[in-house]
Amino acid sequence: MNSRVLVLNQDFSPLMVCSVQRAFVLVYLNKSEMIRPANGHKLHSVTQSFPMPSVIRLNRYVRAPYKGVALTRQNIFKRDNFECQYCGTKRELTLDHIIPSSKGGQHTWVNLVTACKSCNAKKGDFTPEEAGMPLRKKPHKPSYSLFLRELSTHHGNEWDEFLA
Ligand SMILES: [Zn+2]
Repeated sequence: MNSRVLVLNQDFSPLMVCSVQRAFVLVYLNKSEMIRPANGHKLHSVTQSFPMPSVIRLNRYVRAPYKGVALTRQNIFKRDNFECQYCGTKRELTLDHIIPSSKGGQHTWVNLVTACKSCNAKKGDFTPEEAGMPLRKKPHKPSYSLFLRELSTHHGNEWDEFLA
């Protein structure tokens, strides 16, 4: 059984994703309540069957550590939909510093974008304005729920309203 369960904080904000087994224990110990069962799936013990959880909510509010999304090459590609942010191609992708490092550009979510090798080379050591290469969209720091939402694609639509 490798399904995942969305765990909501007491205030219904998405907190994390856990295994069905762990979610079931949390419900069984009265530490959380079932919010949405997984459609049509049941867990069986010797004598009983229980609906399998898809979304649960903790009974007590947990002060969550800051849920940042790691600034990695792969996560930047993901945010940018694996498209060069200058020409739109999905081939030969690399990272581009919008304001080049040589001009003080930082290694941050808002200064890094996906670019293809040819746009990256063409832009060189210039800003988009200087190179006459406007960005297709302004880069942002992705939210944690965006990444949780991605995990939910295997889950029908039981998670959707909580990740909106
Ligand atoms: Zn390009």
